[in-house]
Amino acid sequence: MTVKNIAYAIGKALGGVKVLKYLARNHPRILMYHRIRATAEGDGIHVDVFRQQMEILARDFNVVSLEELLHLANNNQPLPQHAVVITFDDGYEDFYLNAFPVLQALSLPTTVFVTTGFVSNETWLWPDKIKYMLSESQIGTLFVPELNTTFTLKTDKLRAWHSIADYCLTIPNKQKNPFINDLAIKLSVTLPFSAPDMYKALSWDQVKEMSANGIDIGSHSVTHPVMTKLELTDLRDELENSKRIIEQMLNKPVTGFCFPNGLSEDINEEVQGEINRAGYQYALAAFPTLNPLAERLAIGRYPAHPDISEFEKIVYGFRLQRLSN
Ligand SMILES: [Zn+2]
Repeated sequence: MTVKNIAYAIGKALGGVKVLKYLARNHPRILMYHRIRATAEGDGIHVDVFRQQMEILARDFNVVSLEELLHLANNNQPLPQHAVVITFDDGYEDFYLNAFPVLQALSLPTTVFVTTGFVSNETWLWPDKIKYMLSESQIGTLFVPELNTTFTLKTDKLRAWHSIADYCLTIPNKQKNPFINDLAIKLSVTLPFSAPDMYKALSWDQVKEMSANGIDIGSHSVTHPVMTKLELTDLRDELENSKRIIEQMLNKPVTGFCFPNGLSEDINEEVQGEINRAGYQYALAAFPTLNPLAERLAIGRYPAHPDISEFEKIVYGFRLQRLSN
């Protein structure tokens, strides 16, 4: 336990959580989730932990939809106190299998931002491709000239994945796919055209069913590129085509965009101008801000956490105090 965690545990025991929660009452906490798993090991948050988190929200907070919160803010109406918003990125099938039943049982509104090319089975997410290739490869060492690094794959797969994925975030999108295809050759792995089961997307039928049952759907682009690394025509295609296909599939307007990767370096005014031009009313970032609704095209969110005490720090306002310092 770190000193900060001890301080949190003591504060919690003394009723400090109530004070923090009160201090944070006007700060909407917008949560960002990705994957919910039912297996002991794997990516994301285990469904039992997720259920526990959702039960805390249902008991102690005002869970509102993002659309409702923005509607109130746009009309200068007071926001509900202790508001929490649930969002999911990417569009993995495990949302439908594991998260949706929990959210439905507790009647918690949620917005899911789908990568439309992924849901349409035209691509799968590139960080998963790298993870898959590294896990399937039987070769001993991998030299990556772009990183001037040799990885010993028996012991270094995770480090290799982090380094290679980080490198991919820095290069123009046009270079990324050839780089990944070249990596597959070096690793002697054949990349399947569609995502293997563990990286599988939602289907449009699942998206339609959820949209008809209280889940809002927004766009997370077509292919999940870093938007600031795109040429203008590709940037427009990613924004317009993803919006259009969701609207065609669901027969509902799409007003929200969620930045792939979504860190401050992945957001700029040019992209925000194009988001506006494509007809979106808001866009979501992947980091928390003191006043999350202040910038409608970079709304602040808290990354969700698999650890319950870290989750409590976010929702009860402990993290807000640290943001303010
Ligand atoms: Zn994403």
